[in-house]
Amino acid sequence: MNDERTLKIREIAKELLSKGEIAVFIGYGKGTCNGKARPIFVRTPEEADELIFDSTCSNNLVTYLKFPAVRDEGVVGIVVKGCDAKALVGLIRESQLMREQVRIVAVTCEGVVADDGQLQLRCQYCDVANPTFYDFLVGSPVEDQKPRDFSGLLEKYETMSVEERWEFWQSQFEKCIRCYACRQACPLCYCTRCIVEKNQPQWIETSSHLRGNFAWNIIRAFHLAGRCAGCGACEDACPVDIPLMLLNYKLEKEIWDYFHYRVDLDPESVPPFTTFKTDDRGEFIL
Ligand code: SF4
Ligand code: SF4
Repeated sequence: MNDERTLKIREIAKELLSKGEIAVFIGYGKGTCNGKARPIFVRTPEEADELIFDSTCSNNLVTYLKFPAVRDEGVVGIVVKGCDAKALVGLIRESQLMREQVRIVAVTCEGVVADDGQLQLRCQYCDVANPTFYDFLVGSPVEDQKPRDFSGLLEKYETMSVEERWEFWQSQFEKCIRCYACRQACPLCYCTRCIVEKNQPQWIETSSHLRGNFAWNIIRAFHLAGRCAGCGACEDACPVDIPLMLLNYKLEKEIWDYFHYRVDLDPESVPPFTTFKTDDRGEFIL
């Protein structure tokens, strides 16, 4: 039986495509692996019958919007969950995307599951189960919106000694094969030329070696500080299971503690590293 959200998404996509309001609709279709949904691009009203929505729709489709080849097709219709919507708003906030380039179909979401059928980690801290940025809203309101509080998760790592923490991250980063799947999957990693691809000067060693791996993962996390949507796409994409969300959550917590800023669904909100306050406490340089 189809989720009521599936039928509504199909109806909206068909209407937008038949009226010529969009050139392409990016949504989810039935996958071929572990029963998991996969991203699909729909270009005709007939193809819209392939669209689905259920708890296996884990991918953040907003990632496709960072590619000029997709934007060049024309106005794009897209399905977003709340966390994905945060990334989409981030692209607008950072002038990578204009509001009129997208027709947004937001879905209310009680969480999506990982390959093992368990609720994804990110869904346990989701504060946007009922998205507020959209052209169309699909699904019934979700009652139990969760607090954005991962202090319990981080406590284990924050109470480690510096040496223990070093050991822990060393054991994680030595697994990194520098495939950059995390970067490719991240909707907010959109630089035309990534710092790891610059070799004059070469800031980061490119071979899969612990020193370069540390630099890569720490720099990527810092570049996403105050911008990360918490969508989990990077960790999902990592083939060697590095817990990248631990880094993202830690930085989100620091940004909140220092600047009282949290990534939200308001394109006008101002992330701390894009502004300056003359009364900034500036504790880090004291
Ligand atoms: S860093 Fe990871 S969690 Fe954050 S926006 Fe990018 S893919 Fe999503
Ligand atoms: S996806 Fe994982 S293995 Fe690949 S570069 Fe990123 S952290 Fe390293």
